[in-house]
Amino acid sequence: MSNQQHDTEASQSSDCPRHIDPIQKISARSAEIGGGITVNRVLPSRQRRMIGAWCFLDHAGPAVFRDGTGMKVGPHPHIGLQTFTWMVAGEVLHRDSLGNVAEVRPGEVNLMTAGRGISHTEESLAGSEQLHAAQLWIALPYQDRECEPAFDHYPELPVWRQGDSQLTLLAGRYAGEQSPAKIYSPLLAVDIVSASGDELYLPLDTRFEYGILVLQGDIVVCGQRFVENDLAYFSPGANEVQVTLSPNSQIIFLGGEPFAGDITLWWNFVGHSRAEITQAQRDWEAGSSRFGSISGFDGAPLIAPPLPWRE
Ligand code: MN
Repeated sequence: MSNQQHDTEASQSSDCPRHIDPIQKISARSAEIGGGITVNRVLPSRQRRMIGAWCFLDHAGPAVFRDGTGMKVGPHPHIGLQTFTWMVAGEVLHRDSLGNVAEVRPGEVNLMTAGRGISHTEESLAGSEQLHAAQLWIALPYQDRECEPAFDHYPELPVWRQGDSQLTLLAGRYAGEQSPAKIYSPLLAVDIVSASGDELYLPLDTRFEYGILVLQGDIVVCGQRFVENDLAYFSPGANEVQVTLSPNSQIIFLGGEPFAGDITLWWNFVGHSRAEITQAQRDWEAGSSRFGSISGFDGAPLIAPPLPWRE
């Protein structure tokens, strides 16, 4: 991917700095994640593959399980990425091949760094009848793609108020705050909740591209309206954006420096070459120790679909 050039003329104090016009609207599509759960997949899409190193974005729910089923995603591998889970409602239990067993609850983040290989499971906690979450993947830069696998749970993140909204810093640095989440490239994620509706001016890093995903309610950015599961994308160059939030709305504000390098995303793998993915798939199919094993989960491992290219 190449960085786009923008002029450096200062923007007028209008609602929409012309640097960020036009805004690209990306609509989610339905995707199955296993266990009968359908999510809204926003990235990758035909129109856009990444925002910075954010390379995958699923919005799950809001859903209510009335029959005690819930989400249950069996053992599956990852390489070359971090999975970033932000819980809005409900409780999910994570188990991984490093031996971690961690619950993630509303207001908390689970961050799993796959590096050269990890496997995990995700399931609704017994008695948890709701699910509302965002799961994002972060592509690891080339030099970090084979790092040691790791898992981190962040129960506390910086939270503050701006106007009538509540902001939670999920990843990166913003408004003088720093998220504890360990990431490998310049990125931002902020959750913004407005109960009464609000008009926010959000300062931007001119080097970053941005996306705003609507989790609930609707928003207006530069005169354009975005509803639940829409993503508003704008390229680098602007230093501020105005966002009008409807009452009872919630958004995730994402950003990052355009990712250096070309990645391939296949199934649960991110590779900097097809060969890396082919090898990972072979290792998973062979039950290689690369992906370890998970104890305590009742269910079969997921089977990788056939590779979409000749090996
Ligand atoms: Mn996973």
